[in-house]
Amino acid sequence: MQLRRTALVATLSVIALTAAACGGDSDSAAEPSVAEAPEFEAGTTMAEIAERGTITIGTKFDQPGFGLENLEGEIEGFDVEVAKIIAGALGIAPEDIEWEFTPSAVREEVIERGEVDMVVATYTINDARKERISFAGPYYQAGQQIMVASDDEDITGPDSLMDNPDAKICSVTGSTPSEQIRPYLASPDQLVLFEGYEQCADALSNGQVDAVTTDNVILLGFVSESDGEFKLVGEQFTEEPYGIGIPKGDVEFCEFIHETLRDNEEAYLEAWESTAGQIEGTQTPELPEFDECA
Ligand code: GLU
Repeated sequence: MQLRRTALVATLSVIALTAAACGGDSDSAAEPSVAEAPEFEAGTTMAEIAERGTITIGTKFDQPGFGLENLEGEIEGFDVEVAKIIAGALGIAPEDIEWEFTPSAVREEVIERGEVDMVVATYTINDARKERISFAGPYYQAGQQIMVASDDEDITGPDSLMDNPDAKICSVTGSTPSEQIRPYLASPDQLVLFEGYEQCADALSNGQVDAVTTDNVILLGFVSESDGEFKLVGEQFTEEPYGIGIPKGDVEFCEFIHETLRDNEEAYLEAWESTAGQIEGTQTPELPEFDECA
């Protein structure tokens, strides 16, 4: 995964590394197309990455369905596959991608510092974040929900948290759900924050907390892995449009990402079906209309 490869062959053809999409195993993602020696205007981010021959991408390693480190040490999930589509259009094969573990709280920082080329990590587009970075997308629309133990009859949604002032709810530092849940709490002490959602799921499992809140699709991943231990309650109560975080003001890179996703809608759908689409309760998305690049 962290190999470097600099030799580029001078042809503009696009090769599909495998044709796994044609009746292959639905559990494993099809290999993305990798452009061979694509040409970009000098001075653009695309030209710089293509010339370098590697790309560093920030994602999660602990979120089933979106970005999860498997037992072989590989990172898999919908975000990972979306990122591979973009890398492929830049001429970067999956083995030349360097994956950077990027918890929610550090996403803007790693982009600002230039430690990653982009972040694809269940990353909600919002104005506060846009002060520091730019987003391409959205490429998916999620929404915040609550997860509890399957035998919990007391917490039925965000509005029930006031009636259960002793209940603790877990979320992640630097995430939108950790802020958006606050108005529903009887006191700030109800909120427990960790670095990642896996820690919240563990805390729910061992009774340290009574609920976990974040985006529905992340929670569904933990429900599906819980063997009946967890369930979702209440309706989604926010909109979480997922964007690809890039350096602030890189309009050309943003437009390139939009063009790439539009041109690869089929690969986008395959990416979904082989990852988050495998989780019970998820629905196949349509590629959303993109925001204007800024
Ligand atoms: N989408 C939300 C956010 O960007 C929650 C998921 C996450 O923390 O990655 O904050």
